[in-house]
Amino acid sequence: MIQQPVLYIVIPCYNEEEVLPITAPMFREKLRQLVAQGAISEKSRILFVNDGSKDGTWEIIQGLARQDEHYLGICQSRNRGHQNAVLAGLMEAKDRADITISIDCDGQDDIHAMDRMVEAYVKGSEVVYGVRSRRDTDTFFKRFTAEGFYHLMRWMGAEVVFNHADYRLISSRVLQEFANFKEVNLFLRGLIPLVGFPSTCVYYERRERLAGKSHYPLRKMLALAFNGITSLSVKPIRMITALGCVVSVLGFLAVIWAIVMAVLGKTIAGWASTVCIICFLGGIQLLSLGVIGEYIGKIYLETKQRPRYIISQRTYDGGPEAPEKDCQ
Ligand code: UDP
Ligand code: MG
Repeated sequence: MIQQPVLYIVIPCYNEEEVLPITAPMFREKLRQLVAQGAISEKSRILFVNDGSKDGTWEIIQGLARQDEHYLGICQSRNRGHQNAVLAGLMEAKDRADITISIDCDGQDDIHAMDRMVEAYVKGSEVVYGVRSRRDTDTFFKRFTAEGFYHLMRWMGAEVVFNHADYRLISSRVLQEFANFKEVNLFLRGLIPLVGFPSTCVYYERRERLAGKSHYPLRKMLALAFNGITSLSVKPIRMITALGCVVSVLGFLAVIWAIVMAVLGKTIAGWASTVCIICFLGGIQLLSLGVIGEYIGKIYLETKQRPRYIISQRTYDGGPEAPEKDCQ
């Protein structure tokens, strides 16, 4: 019989005392169900990450952990934001579990999609993205801004799965590799696809929050989008270079035009030389900024020290040290 995988459900919580007592038993029930079906191991756990909450969230988590050994909790020293909280949980789980599923604690994401996620893992996917099939419960404004966000991200060169947030299954094997991504500007949904390995999507409907209120106002969403673009792509710098080229060509044409006008005597004294200098310098300056930006972009990517390659399979056993050399 094949051994069932140990699953850790990783749940970031920030000021969630209202919703946690409602959703924690739901997660527990799901875990029980998956164990009963023989899909996951009895050693599976629910891991709450308290992200420096200022209310009674941590006390609730501690209480749950005392009641039932299937609940575990870790507490961040202060609020570091959703992405860092998820990362803390994943890194905590990577050596204890075979698979992790990260999910918000507010009951918006359909927990029943976990069954299909685990199934997809068994069939060979190392990463399973939870993707929203519809956004009916969102307001028009939220839907418009959220979908615009994904389009903008893609256009700016960040590889993201459309309508996927942070509800996903990741195998411990992918997490071991992901641990080598040392950057501090975290945008998990753009970084996980960079790790590679077989992946698939599972579709689900997202509901409204069961209680409490959202911690992602428009301001935070814009900050997340900006962080995602600038930490994954140097395309904005390329756009400055391109703009520099266009302005240089236009500047060159304007210089010719100014000279022609001056030769034809249709200008007042000093106009042609002023226009020539402005157009010439404008183009050169933008182009130079773009070139400097290219180097800064390279330095930026170098400072991340991301792994340059990740090996997914070997025809022999063991890590890079193996196979042992036969010295006789
Ligand atoms: N969260 C967190 N730290 C923060 C903000 C949010 O850990 O600084 C958690 C929060 O408790 C929830 C998840 O991130 O489990 C998603 O937040 P929320 O539901 O407020 O965002 P929305 O679903 O409205 O985009
Ligand atoms: Mg939410």
